Amino acid sequence: MIKSESIAESTVEPPVEPPAEPPVPGLALAFASTIRHDGHGGVADDLADPAALPGWAAGVGFDGVPGSAEAQAAVLSIRAGTRALFAYAVRPWPASRADAHRLLPLAEAVDRINTAAAQVPVTVRLDWDDERPASVLEGGAADPVVALTAALARATIAFLAGPDRENLRACQAPRCVRYFVKGHGRQEFCKPSCSNRARVARHYARHQAEGQVDE
Ligand SMILES: [Zn+2]
Repeated sequence: MIKSESIAESTVEPPVEPPAEPPVPGLALAFASTIRHDGHGGVADDLADPAALPGWAAGVGFDGVPGSAEAQAAVLSIRAGTRALFAYAVRPWPASRADAHRLLPLAEAVDRINTAAAQVPVTVRLDWDDERPASVLEGGAADPVVALTAALARATIAFLAGPDRENLRACQAPRCVRYFVKGHGRQEFCKPSCSNRARVARHYARHQAEGQVDE
């Protein structure tokens, strides 16, 4: 009885809001995307304020992360590793303009991610209920910051070693700094608004060039 009520409730609830905008396919990308275009020509950092960290972490499933400068530094250190590795992974395509000029060396980024992942030993378990088989990681850390940074590092490893890596790109639309996974053959930009902005910019550049020829 209780079970059927809970199923009925769950069917009418709206979908859970994704932790980042726009929806992202996984934690590593969501994490990298905390550096993004601010909509006004600049770059926004969702984790620039330590006070934003607890909410962001809770949104990706990690409660209890403090909004301290130490916690923020630990997370930003991993993010520098993740974003550097993304920049190397998209080669020969260009890296995100947000930090292409200040990337960690490859070996240092790899070491940083591996060190963070190694903080929390995990085991993998097959979970097969009525629906379908799922791989479940077991293990954890008492310290929520350690748990979070290790999970972010693991997500980075899984992403880079997984099938999405070859479709990873840095959006080259004007002002965009987002990494995204290309969904179909000719997709060049992370979302339709970027595609529109790029088309307008190309149109403007073409007319500028024609104008200069006339002069
Ligand atoms: Zn974009």
